[in-house]
Amino acid sequence: MNRKAELEENLREVKNKIASVADHEVVLVVVTKSFPASDVEILSQLGVCDFGENRDSEGAEKSKVVPATWHFQGQIQSNKLKSITSWASVIHSLDELRHFELIEKIAPHPLSIFLQVSLDGAHHRGGAKSEDLYELARAIENSSKHRLSGIMSVPPLSMDPARAYEQLQQIHMEFMREFPGATGLSAGMSGDYEMAISYGATHVRVGSSILGSRSPQR
Ligand SMILES: *Cc1c(COP(=O)(O)O)cnc(C)c1O
Repeated sequence: MNRKAELEENLREVKNKIASVADHEVVLVVVTKSFPASDVEILSQLGVCDFGENRDSEGAEKSKVVPATWHFQGQIQSNKLKSITSWASVIHSLDELRHFELIEKIAPHPLSIFLQVSLDGAHHRGGAKSEDLYELARAIENSSKHRLSGIMSVPPLSMDPARAYEQLQQIHMEFMREFPGATGLSAGMSGDYEMAISYGATHVRVGSSILGSRSPQR
């Protein structure tokens, strides 16, 4: 099977699964990390308009080739923020106030921002503690330029995913009482996006189910 037929079939399957569980609108962000720009071009031709990257260098390169809505969901490094904010229009992984302060200074265009929350309070997979989200959220709400979209999480490997997503949904509902506009919930990857949607995810970040498995060194 050629690459286009393969991507088309995988994409159709993921979209069908999303449609079968979702009773609300869900944005599919196709995570293209470690895959070439040629795959992004094919997916763009197939109608995908949201792509996600974890690394600045890859996002910078591929976004030059394919105009789309580019999402950044990797760990933020201060020295990369200038570049990240030049190609990404959505950031899923903000978890430190100092990074937002830097974004305010250097971002060349308005960003939609998800706050990454850690469900185990540890920093293994990134994220702020749930009680620290509010200070961060207020800083974004006070900015006239950027928009607070909602919250994001990657469940800890040690945690039962259903329990993790249930807890995340609770955190999000409570958060929306103070920030009613922050309706986005970015949760769910290839292994668990259907479950995440059943717990309210509005944005799923799916890579390998569409593009295939990544080589481990990448
Ligand atoms: C890699 C990655 C994804 C996509 O993972 P798949 O399992 O390939 O779907 C989603 N979110 C984050 C934060 C990632 O690092």
